[in-house]
Amino acid sequence: MGTITRSSTSIFQRLGVRPVINACGVYTDLGGTVLSPTVWAAMEEMNTSAVRLVELLDATGAHIAKLMQAEAARVTPGASAAIALGTAACMAGMNGEHWERLPDTTGMKNEVVIQKRHRYKYDRCARIPGAKLVEAGDENGTTLAQLEAAMTPQTAMILFPAHLDERTGTIALRDVTALAKRCSVPTLVDAAYLNYPTERMASFGKAGADLVCFSAKYFWGPNSGGFIYGRKDLIDAVAGVDFTRYESGKYLTFGRPFKLDRQTIAGVVVALEEWLAMDHEARWRGYASKVLWIMQVLSGANVSMQPMYFTMEERLEEAPVNCLAVRFASANAAAAVCARLAEGEPSIATVPVGGHLVIAMDTVLNGQEHEIARRLKEELARL
Ligand SMILES: *Cc1c(COP(=O)(O)O)cnc(C)c1O
Repeated sequence: MGTITRSSTSIFQRLGVRPVINACGVYTDLGGTVLSPTVWAAMEEMNTSAVRLVELLDATGAHIAKLMQAEAARVTPGASAAIALGTAACMAGMNGEHWERLPDTTGMKNEVVIQKRHRYKYDRCARIPGAKLVEAGDENGTTLAQLEAAMTPQTAMILFPAHLDERTGTIALRDVTALAKRCSVPTLVDAAYLNYPTERMASFGKAGADLVCFSAKYFWGPNSGGFIYGRKDLIDAVAGVDFTRYESGKYLTFGRPFKLDRQTIAGVVVALEEWLAMDHEARWRGYASKVLWIMQVLSGANVSMQPMYFTMEERLEEAPVNCLAVRFASANAAAAVCARLAEGEPSIATVPVGGHLVIAMDTVLNGQEHEIARRLKEELARL
């Protein structure tokens, strides 16, 4: 048996990891965001007692459904899991033997149709429960006729990444859901980060989507949280195929590894409530004022700096301001400063984009802009 040693050193030191100032934005590999005191308090309170997880998931699901003006909803361990579980639900429905059989899809519809120009990293999550992706159209786009032709008696679902809606040549969500309904095939929308303006979250259901997935990491909830909302029969199937009742129920369900803590479930709901009630104008003003502060400290430095908008697609646009873009002579120079900021003390994570170094404020805590400005000034003085 080992002995328990108490130490006054911080958990970071004890585990041998460096705290990082995150000036990149919300990235899974940087742990998402720092949870708000309200969210953390809810998680802490949830820690004080056991609860029945099925009851907690049903109750929080009903609550989220109301917020999303949807028939039903369910917390999931992230948007990736929501895609996997939603796809499983579309294939297996309410058939318990099928919940157990996946990812073997024998006896089930197992084709997921996606527009060729909608292929993206997370479409892989639809294949986890055993579905096969069927591409509609080609590199130039997809026509309604091509989408219809891709539908077969084996089609279980259409997967629609909402951030790629309106990409040139693709069919818009409303037209896809209209065709899907005519074919009696559900549409699953990945809207992972499309949570602002907040009305946008419910809009996908209103546009005819049968299931809609969000990641809690993007509304300042737990990095391992998310939810899915939509049609009641499909959410019931998600609840059937998910991790609950594996020991107590009849079926060894496919979703068992997609497990959730009660603390995370509470954190997702409270973070969502907070996000919907937040003064978002003040949030954006906060980013801009941090950017201006850093620019002031660096005034006189021999680089050009501009307040800009670092998009979720990692592009730089003019507005609204959420980052400082520092322009260097070359992409190599930007990458070198990025590396030195990461290695320095404290470690600061930034994003090189071509010849720019992006310092994104979405995840910078109040006061951290001072450290960022100090370190940047040092590095610029070395150029
Ligand atoms: C981050 C992300 C996901 C995955 O969300 P998790 O909650 O991390 O599983 C899915 N789709 C898109 C577009 C994302 O950006």
